[in-house]
Amino acid sequence: MNTLAIIVLGQNSVPLARRIMTALPNAILYGLAERTCDVDISFTNFGSTLRELFTSGTPIIGICAAGILIRTLAPVLSDKRLEPPLLAVAEDGSAVVPLLGGLQGVNDLARQIAAVLEVQAAVTTTGDLRFQTALLSPPSGYHLANPEDAKGFISELLAGATVKMLGNASWLSQSKLSFEPDGELTIRITEEQVQVSPDCLVYHPKTLAIGVSNVAGVNSDEAIAFIHRLLSHAELSVASVAGVFALEKDAVEPVVDAIANAFNVRSRFFSFGGVGRGGFNTDNMWVEPNMISNPPSQCEDVALAATGAGGRLLVQERLESGIAVAIAVAPDLIDTSAIGRARGRLFIVGTGPGGAHWMSPEVKQIISEATDLIGYSFYLDLAGPLRPGQQRHEFDNREEAARAKMALDLAAVGRTVAVVSSGDPGIYAMAAAVFEVIDRNPQPGWYSIDIQVAPGISALQAASARIGAPIGHDFCTISLSDILKPWSIIEQRIIAAAQADLVIAFYNPASKQRTWQLTAARDLILKYRSPHTPVVVARNVGRPGESVIVRSLSELSIEDVDMRTILLVGSTKTRIVKHPRGVWVYTPRQYR
Ligand code: SAH
Repeated sequence: MNTLAIIVLGQNSVPLARRIMTALPNAILYGLAERTCDVDISFTNFGSTLRELFTSGTPIIGICAAGILIRTLAPVLSDKRLEPPLLAVAEDGSAVVPLLGGLQGVNDLARQIAAVLEVQAAVTTTGDLRFQTALLSPPSGYHLANPEDAKGFISELLAGATVKMLGNASWLSQSKLSFEPDGELTIRITEEQVQVSPDCLVYHPKTLAIGVSNVAGVNSDEAIAFIHRLLSHAELSVASVAGVFALEKDAVEPVVDAIANAFNVRSRFFSFGGVGRGGFNTDNMWVEPNMISNPPSQCEDVALAATGAGGRLLVQERLESGIAVAIAVAPDLIDTSAIGRARGRLFIVGTGPGGAHWMSPEVKQIISEATDLIGYSFYLDLAGPLRPGQQRHEFDNREEAARAKMALDLAAVGRTVAVVSSGDPGIYAMAAAVFEVIDRNPQPGWYSIDIQVAPGISALQAASARIGAPIGHDFCTISLSDILKPWSIIEQRIIAAAQADLVIAFYNPASKQRTWQLTAARDLILKYRSPHTPVVVARNVGRPGESVIVRSLSELSIEDVDMRTILLVGSTKTRIVKHPRGVWVYTPRQYR
């Protein structure tokens, strides 16, 4: 997941930033706090924010003067091989200037942005201009094996040296480089591990497919070491590995993704078609990659299915502990996203209680990358507009199990699904619902799904932050909804919490149908706490129509609350601090 940061220093740059973001769906908009609103992340310190993003390798697009960016980053410029792309875009959109990160594709990024703004990118890199190609940052799918030789190599080219090409790559043959059969310099495209030298640039194309089978219970470290040995014996470059391929039934085995992670590539799966080895047809596989032959040649078949028509088997070996590995080479780059199916991913995310400013960058990224968003329509609206190709599945707020099941079924066929809750997804929300569905009615296909919960700020924290520090000491949360649990249990918990002198956060205090529970809860607590106990009544925190007021416990009434309200009932230690513009509420951490 590669995020980019777009930085704006004033509100008038926000529309331009949004225009750029139409071409860069992974971009996150950073705005200077006092001067911008409606941004994804507000910052107060420009220098430290910029330096932090830069040193963490995040590509940065500053809608500001180039000089500000350079001066701010000057202290952290050290190794140009590690520098992420840095660009300045003029506030009126008239200029796009790539500044740093030539080795990480800054010129391509500048051209991409310039295309949206309908201007010319101010590319100044001579090699890039003269040859219409960035030899130092090849397009994705190619790895330059000897970047240390590239600078001298390009200088010689610029000085007029002739060059020949061994192997083939369209980005080179379509560039302005003119290749001659007996050129002095060489550009070599190969999956083989070959000697590099200052007069030979070597690019490894992602053309190797690793097919694995017999993976049940296999030790990951052993398997990875085995594959490294196979590649090395066959003199094949690790950089040319495009993906790890296996049968659908093996998707549950952890070793498959352990291998994919070790080679920094994706895993893809083919479903078992039961076609005999003789009937295996790689031509068909390419178009319809779901029919695989029977054992004992499964690893070979998956590898060849991945390389498609024209693929060749290079290696097939089996480790004693079981795993069988085949390595096949494709005549062209392997586009893993088009072969077999991906491991399904299910993200259960919390968008925070309000708008984008309270949503974590991780959640924003997941939402931007998901193929399917599932949730209650109100929460999906909070998650923001869809990008092209994303599907939105709306549900009624009550249909939790159906929502969870749909999410699992979609992920099981290889989609990237985000189940969206407000606040934190683990607090009275969808995370528990998903695990409950899996626990009660497990389906074999669900076990291959990667499930990840991405936390969010809960209403409790947001309400507390607005009024001071009412949950500064021990507290608990109780949902007042008796739809999923009986009132007798709620009652018991309220009494226990009141006796324990915990601050109590009440979620779901009332709805149109549930109107008496709040008064009942208040009366129970009044048996243990003073009628003057402060209660924070926080409604729509972080959203339009926000209100946060403080009542005394005895005054609390159903008129104060609805289903978008959270209550924080103080303990005996909770205090109100009056100040000229209102009150703070806090619970001290010290017991004296
Ligand atoms: N997962 C959510 C809670 C869902 S239960 C979270 O972590 O916040 C729904 C209840 O949460 C609502 O009835 C209300 O009590 C509370 N709530 C959610 N968002 C809120 C907000 N913005 N302001 C006040 N209360 C909120």
